[in-house]
Amino acid sequence: MVTVIKNKANILDGNEPKIRIEQVGFLYTYKCNLQCKHCCVSASPMRIEKLDSAAVSKIIDEAAQLGIPHVSFSGGEPLLYFDEIMKHVQQARGNGISSSLVTNGVWCNAKESTESKIRLLKDAGLTSLEISYDNFHREAGAKVEHIKTIITECKKQGIGVGVKRVKGPTKNKDRFIIEKELRGFKEIGCEFQVVDLSPSGAASVNFSPTDYRYAKVPIEKITECEGIGTIVTYLANGTLMPCCADPLVDMDRDHDCTLLRLGNIYEDKLEVGIKRLKNNLYLSILAILGPIGFKLLAEEYPNHIAWPEVLRSTCDFCVFAAGSDEFGEWLSELEKNKTEVWSRLRECSEVLNRWGIAHNPHVVWM
Ligand code: SF4
Ligand code: SF4
Repeated sequence: MVTVIKNKANILDGNEPKIRIEQVGFLYTYKCNLQCKHCCVSASPMRIEKLDSAAVSKIIDEAAQLGIPHVSFSGGEPLLYFDEIMKHVQQARGNGISSSLVTNGVWCNAKESTESKIRLLKDAGLTSLEISYDNFHREAGAKVEHIKTIITECKKQGIGVGVKRVKGPTKNKDRFIIEKELRGFKEIGCEFQVVDLSPSGAASVNFSPTDYRYAKVPIEKITECEGIGTIVTYLANGTLMPCCADPLVDMDRDHDCTLLRLGNIYEDKLEVGIKRLKNNLYLSILAILGPIGFKLLAEEYPNHIAWPEVLRSTCDFCVFAAGSDEFGEWLSELEKNKTEVWSRLRECSEVLNRWGIAHNPHVVWM
């Protein structure tokens, strides 16, 4: 049986991990003009961390050399550094790379200035803009009419635009308001995406475990990480991570997170980080089967790991794995038997298919 993963980022091809990174993300800063209670990176006006603009420029050039087609900027609020972001967007375009950014839209305080800012971004080459907006942003001070103005201007000037809402515990009254607002965005031609609350940053302090989608879900029921294989992200402190990385900000601060850390913007070339990703057995298993893959392997490879009984998200597994010495030692043992582990992994995936347990939709076993 041959394994094929039909994904923009083929993860497995034959016996070797094959990964094609499509995007480099920059969590440009943790500074933000809002302080939302669900913020997974604990951004706030008091935070000062940001990436060095010259270092980001070098990576954009390298991304172009490596054939990576897209860069994205988020935070925090990246547009607090409007001139720098403009420069990077221009640089990306000059290198034939498309770019996008995530914003809370709070900079839209007058129609005229919004129009001119969006024109500047468009002229610089920005491809698309994603606006984060939900009940928590509104509570923190974001205004629906500002979001509508931005959407209208983006539409007028030909920049792709979408709204992302984080779904969390909400009173009925607030749910009614946000649903009405989202319908309003749709009426002016803007699609929205709903994502789960992520148990990291401010959210992990402000919400209880039962507020998350996966609260009380046994580890065996949580499958793949879809975040690995298409995007690598630089955190605002320069660390390179193997996914969208938002859930990893706390972890990088609190643990010696060698399991997931691929490098640092000030020390390593991007190419080196991507090579580390390709050789990382942990990430390959996580991308293909998720936490259940480790539990299945654990039945055959002896270990003394105190496995977590329930998880709030797949990312919680990374937090557990990065913080467990026993897990690290066991993984080193698996590394020594990589070929055997790899073939066992394929069998596991086939078993999951037979059980009808969903796994990474990008992964097709043939
Ligand atoms: S969720 Fe977005 S807008 Fe809110 S504090 Fe975090 S980065 Fe800022
Ligand atoms: S499961 Fe781990 S690797 Fe995947 S997105 Fe979450 S933190 Fe990143």
